[in-house]
Amino acid sequence: MTDQTVPTDAVRLRSTLDAVPAYKPGKPAPRREGVTTYKISSNENPYPPLPSVLKVVQDAAAGMNRYPDMAVTGLTRMLADSLDVTPAEIATGTGSVGVLGSLLQITCEPGDEVVYAWRSFEAYPIVVALAGATSVQVPLTADARHDLDAMAAAVTDRTRLVLVCTPNNPTGPAVHTGELEAFLAKVPHDVLVVIDEAYLEFVTDTEAPRAMDVFRAHPNVAVLRTFSKAYGLAGLRVGYVVAHEPVAEAVRKAAVPFGVSTIAQEAAVASLAAFGELQERVDALVVERTRVLAGLRAQGWDVPDSDANFIWLPLGDDATSFAKVAEEAGLVVRPFGGDGVRCTIAETQANDRLLQVADDFRDG
Ligand SMILES: *Cc1c(COP(=O)(O)O)cnc(C)c1O
Repeated sequence: MTDQTVPTDAVRLRSTLDAVPAYKPGKPAPRREGVTTYKISSNENPYPPLPSVLKVVQDAAAGMNRYPDMAVTGLTRMLADSLDVTPAEIATGTGSVGVLGSLLQITCEPGDEVVYAWRSFEAYPIVVALAGATSVQVPLTADARHDLDAMAAAVTDRTRLVLVCTPNNPTGPAVHTGELEAFLAKVPHDVLVVIDEAYLEFVTDTEAPRAMDVFRAHPNVAVLRTFSKAYGLAGLRVGYVVAHEPVAEAVRKAAVPFGVSTIAQEAAVASLAAFGELQERVDALVVERTRVLAGLRAQGWDVPDSDANFIWLPLGDDATSFAKVAEEAGLVVRPFGGDGVRCTIAETQANDRLLQVADDFRDG
């Protein structure tokens, strides 16, 4: 029997939880009579899983009474070979956000500072606050890009971690090699710089950095990647960081034991093996991105370049009303109130509808 005299909120929780913002997942597409609706709010891959990957997943499901290989041996070896690093320089986790949580745990004591651009990936303030660390958000430039000079200037002796999101979610542009190198030259060597390349496979900007080269040249750089976007495995939660050995080893220590399921491990291995097929899908999405950006600009929208699988409409105070109008047209977008709207490049029909909604909104 529960003791009725003791209230359920008597348990003392960490005060830092009050500073943790809630993650707002993209809403599912609403069901509408006679209208195909599309969820373009979470930057998911619109293509269904490859048959070869689905088969591997179904086979792996038969062993779900067993714990997975905690060392993630097969996937780690395959990644190491393809990236030309050692397995010890790789740490996997439950999505790259899971790995990011570990990166916070291994670098930050309460009160330490984490520098990142803003607006950027909405998981950043959450993982930083959960660690009890302090977010130092450096405003993007007027054209929605990282201001790496200002970010370097924001580094103090309390800074333990800098996050560079390239291409930037939700605005789209990638950082450039020259500015990244100039930035790294200014950051102290004991501050970890994480380059979050969740959308790497969609990048076409020729000035975008080759992050693996940057990793090799700098002992304080790590590269965060995911199978959730180009590889289409968002629902299986698998990502990884390429880091120099002491950092990678610490991430493995901090990770949830057996966090990456056998199903996820096998699906990631099969997806790497099938990357040629997946690349065709990515290429098609990039063609669609170019078409949508050109269409929006022809309508008179001032949209930043995008090197990812989404575009950004800098709507300011109209963000929420745009999202409402889009939803009435069967499109669930991702509004950031007072700032803008992020729309995932998806099926051709969804992209066509986005162009139509955007055109109507400008006219209306
Ligand atoms: C989607 C995304 C991720 C990937 O998250 P997972 O946990 O791997 O699904 C990481 N970083 C950014 C910037 C993203 O947009």
